[in-house]
Amino acid sequence: MISLQHVSKEYVLSQEQKVSAVIDVNLEIPAGEFVIITGRSGSGKTTLLNIASGLAKPTQGKVFIAGQDLWELSDRQQSMLRNQKIGFIFQFPSLLPTLSTLENAALPTIFSSNHQSDNPTERATELLAQLGLGDKLVAYPRQLSAGQQQRVVIARALLNQPQVLLADEPTSDLDEQTEIEIMELFHQIHQESGITIVLVTHSSELVRYGTRSIKMAGGHILNENL
Ligand code: ADP
Ligand code: MG
Repeated sequence: MISLQHVSKEYVLSQEQKVSAVIDVNLEIPAGEFVIITGRSGSGKTTLLNIASGLAKPTQGKVFIAGQDLWELSDRQQSMLRNQKIGFIFQFPSLLPTLSTLENAALPTIFSSNHQSDNPTERATELLAQLGLGDKLVAYPRQLSAGQQQRVVIARALLNQPQVLLADEPTSDLDEQTEIEIMELFHQIHQESGITIVLVTHSSELVRYGTRSIKMAGGHILNENL
C-alpha cells in the first residue's frame, strides 16, 4: 500500500546548518496492516509520516502509494490520490470551534473532488453514530470531552473512505484512560474495516494495539518486530 525506498529528508536551517530528520529509510507497508511507529521526540517520526502521505517531499528516495510513484504525478493527480486514498490525523488536530460536530466531520468533502460519498452529511452522521457520537451531532467542540473531540477528528479522517489512515500522536493530549479508549477504537476500526493504519507515538506501551511495530531513533529505523 505504501512503499518508501531509500527515503531521506534534510531540513536546511542555514548554509552551515542542516538537520537529517530521516536517513535512508526503506519501509513496505502492505494493505491491511496496523503499523505503530515509536521513538523519542525528534527521532523523525512526524517527518517520516509526512513523507509517507506526500505532505513532505523527501530530499532523496521514492514514495509509492497504491503502486503510484507519488512524485512523478502532477500536483493535481497527487492531491487527488491523497484525497481519495489517505486519511490524515495531525499531531495537533483542529476542530473549528464555530462548527458543530457534524459540520466538522463533513468538512473534507468541501475540498474533495471525490463524489463517491454522494451525501457527505449522511455519511458523516452514520460515521459519528458508529463512533458513539450519535447524540452529539449539533454540539460544538467546547461541549465535548477531549476523547469525544478526538472521535470527531477520526470521523473526519475516515469520511472520504480512505484506504490508509495515518495518525501522528493521536493520543498525546489525552489522559491515560481516554488514550486506552481511543487506541481501542483504532483497533476496532482496523478489525472491522481492514483499513491500513500507520500510527506514530512516543509511547512504546501502545505497540500492542498494532499488528507490527517499528522503532525510530536519529532518523533511522532501528528494529522491526513483525
Ligand atoms: P518526531 O516527530 O519524532 O518528534 P520530527 O520528524 O518532528 O520528529 O523531527 C525530526 C528532526 O527534524 C528534529 O531534529 C527536528 O528538530 C527536525 N525538524 C522537523 N521539522 C523541521 C522543520 N520544518 N525545519 C527544520 N527542522 C525540522
Ligand atoms: Mg512528531
